[in-house]
Amino acid sequence: MNIILLGSPGAGKGTQATALEEATGMKHIASGDMFRTAVKEGTPLGKLAQSYLDNGELVPDDVVIGMVLERVTRPDCANGVIFDGFPRTPEQARALQEALQNHDDCISAVLLLHVPKEALIQRVIGRWTCRNCQAVYNTYYLAPQEAGICDECGGDLYQRSDDNLETINHRLEVYTAQTMPLVAHYRQQGILHEIDGQGDVNEVTVRMVQAMTLANPC
Ligand code: AMP
Repeated sequence: MNIILLGSPGAGKGTQATALEEATGMKHIASGDMFRTAVKEGTPLGKLAQSYLDNGELVPDDVVIGMVLERVTRPDCANGVIFDGFPRTPEQARALQEALQNHDDCISAVLLLHVPKEALIQRVIGRWTCRNCQAVYNTYYLAPQEAGICDECGGDLYQRSDDNLETINHRLEVYTAQTMPLVAHYRQQGILHEIDGQGDVNEVTVRMVQAMTLANPC
């Protein structure tokens, strides 16, 4: 089974994908995380991607498609993939569908997380992540006990370079213009499941797991 998580920046795709990975044994593949790792390591891919990330723009389709489709050929993806942040354009969706079909595989379900704009902005501009264990905090409603330090492991907390008010507004515009068309595309295929992404994290996970029980087998 392969699942796509759709939703605006800050909708909770990363948090929910991590929970679903634990619950299902499927592999969580996050294109944004792959780019951030490449930027941190200073690889050629990271150097190419950095200005796009900093400005809230999408990395060109051919680069993203090549990176993700190579990643899913590795053995840890054999039990199915939870795609987080990919596809983000119709061209990426087409390339993914074609690659899966070539392996007699398919997209079983697309889970669309709905969160109102004000909440999205608060989630994004208040977000801090642990460099060590990737635990996520929020200065507005889930602050760490000591500012800048992870409660779980004592690691340093950092803010993403694109998690600021100016960039988030642009990222939301990019989402509306380039990614929203995928909602109609997957709805027409009958594999779109819309989920309320507000409230307790565990309750949202329960809604996602329930939606997955309705997924199409490939
Ligand atoms: P995310 O962590 O999913 O919010 O992604 C952070 C940034 O990585 C985005 O603003 C883009 O610059 C880049 N990125 C991640 N996934 C994609 C994608 N599928 N297509 C193009 N750019 C992407």
